[in-house]
Amino acid sequence: MTDSTIQFLRDLIAIDSVNPSLVPEAAGENEIATAIGEKLRAGGLDVKTEQVVHGRPNVFGVLEGKQKGRSLIFCGHMDTVGVAGMESPFDPVQKDGRIYGRGSQDMKGGLAAMIAAILELSKNGGLPAGRLVLAAVVDEEYASIGAEALVRTWKADAAVIGEPTDMKIAVGHKGFQWVEVTTQGIAAHGSRPADGRDAIVRMGRVLSRLEKLDRELQARPPHPVPSTASLHASLIVSGRELSTYPDRCTLDMERRTIEGEAGQCALEEAEKIISDLRREDPEFKASARFLFARPPYLTPAGHILPRMLESALAKKGTEPVRGGMSFWTDAGILGEAGIPSVVFGPRGAGLHSVSEYVIAEDVITCRDALIDLAKEFCCGK
Ligand SMILES: [Zn+2]
Repeated sequence: MTDSTIQFLRDLIAIDSVNPSLVPEAAGENEIATAIGEKLRAGGLDVKTEQVVHGRPNVFGVLEGKQKGRSLIFCGHMDTVGVAGMESPFDPVQKDGRIYGRGSQDMKGGLAAMIAAILELSKNGGLPAGRLVLAAVVDEEYASIGAEALVRTWKADAAVIGEPTDMKIAVGHKGFQWVEVTTQGIAAHGSRPADGRDAIVRMGRVLSRLEKLDRELQARPPHPVPSTASLHASLIVSGRELSTYPDRCTLDMERRTIEGEAGQCALEEAEKIISDLRREDPEFKASARFLFARPPYLTPAGHILPRMLESALAKKGTEPVRGGMSFWTDAGILGEAGIPSVVFGPRGAGLHSVSEYVIAEDVITCRDALIDLAKEFCCGK
């Protein structure tokens, strides 16, 4: 017999919700949002649907407590990355305690656990006090327009983000910054070295400095929560044809950041590399441009939520482990908007790869721990 939470998880996996900003013409979150809304409504919750952009709604289920108390949000994203190379991404297979399929771990497993938790509470006499909100949001895998819309209209005393943390209670994660570097050359016939200046070779100088900087970043003493910063070259574009000197080379790079680093440190580092190279070679020409960034996140020290989640988890027979995650999550957006957050979700593997699965037992444990957490947290004043 399959647990109803696991059956619901399988239903969610079976709905294609690939992010249309990542993959053109992809299904998006409309169908899954409708299914989640119906499920929440059938469970007696007050349901609100808010279009973030046309055809991509956030959906909320609200459970009001019988008395005044604290408010808590369970937040999860409905979108997934693409399915290229996967055999049957939307056909959930259950095997050896694992549920396979696109989004099973990232993060329909966590989402199913959170939805099941709020429905269980609603079914079994409701919430004694406070307010619990289930927030299913769009677009975390691209630009998090869903979480940004959420914080414009919803307030709460705390939130749990159900991203897969391998059951760790994550009290922080890294941020990221994207920077574009362009080197200038001079186009010329390949036989005329006196006229041509090679933009690709010039980018090579930038790349070797970036490699050195990355080694330095990773050699710094690690932050206790999100470890060390790093960078990598993500995309590079250049060249016209074999017999021509390239006049321009563009590199898009990503810098992962930790708490305490400046909001545009990646741009400052790239500009420093360019000015050093120019000092060594006055002919060297390059520029750098800031593209996008998300800050790192740390749950406020001493906040009650991680401790409450630890004791809820211990009661379910799982030894709680506190730590940080390397990847960025919507906790960054909720936290910045004044909603202290922790990240907590099931074990599994293969997120963003061709074989993704979540551990079924963990989904159940997450659900049960979240039920206890909501009762405990929302009762406080
Ligand atoms: Zn995710």
